[in-house]
Amino acid sequence: MSGTAAHPYTSQKENDMTMADLAPAGPDSAQPDPLYRASGVTRTYTQKGRIVKALTGVDLEILPGEFVTIQGPTGGGKSTLLQLLGALDTPTDGSLMLDGRELSSASPAELGRIRAQEIGFVFQGFNLIPTLTASENVDMALEPLGLGVAERRSRVAAALVHVGLEDRGDHRPAELSGGQQQRVAIARAIVKRPRVLLADEPTGNLDEGMRDGILDLLEELCAEGITMIVVTHDSAVARRATRRFRLTKGVVQDITR
Ligand code: ADP
Ligand code: MG
Repeated sequence: MSGTAAHPYTSQKENDMTMADLAPAGPDSAQPDPLYRASGVTRTYTQKGRIVKALTGVDLEILPGEFVTIQGPTGGGKSTLLQLLGALDTPTDGSLMLDGRELSSASPAELGRIRAQEIGFVFQGFNLIPTLTASENVDMALEPLGLGVAERRSRVAAALVHVGLEDRGDHRPAELSGGQQQRVAIARAIVKRPRVLLADEPTGNLDEGMRDGILDLLEELCAEGITMIVVTHDSAVARRATRRFRLTKGVVQDITR
């Protein structure tokens, strides 16, 4: 039931009131519906006639507002899982629900709409377009949403303020530090006001000081209601998580202690 799910940028108090209004009081009424529910998710690739099992029967639930990290060895299936959660790819087998909608049988158009409106992506290499300014890079994420020029301009400005780069909008990526480039990438991910932010090694190219600043920002966005799902090798990142998963040979394990 999507009506009870937390909406980005609403306070926890408002969410609690909405839930209380809609859900009858009962033993389970404190538990929100999961944002993601994976049951038996399998993804196999065929390469040169050989079958590679990247994910084998993954079961997991992620609640709205969680800060989840996914750790594990190279080749364990982390990026594959992130692509499925981001509606960039679909499972070979099993069920993957986002807010009550089945992604594994959704049409390409529906998957595209979900990616454009509900999911923000952040990558290790920032993936900014070098010839565009910071503002123009952020604005690109609004392209598919059909907003007016004034709305776009004000959202871009607000997103840059949010990441502490209000005075860098005219800079091109090469004129920014690594930490600042990652902040632009995060602004580009949040400007659409997504439900969830998916990050693949977002601090992998940053030194410690810049890393901690980025982690503070991700924590702040999570507190504002954006669910965080972060693939990482870095235990400093995993320490910020409310729940930690480990993915080894396509099998997921909850390692939260
Ligand atoms: P991780 O991100 O944890 O390093 P991946 O999800 O990238 O792991 O990969 C999991 C497994 O699937 C690996 O064995 C990898 O070689 C394989 N794999 C990933 N993507 C493809 C692809 N497009 N084609 C064939 N095999 C792939
Ligand atoms: Mg990977």
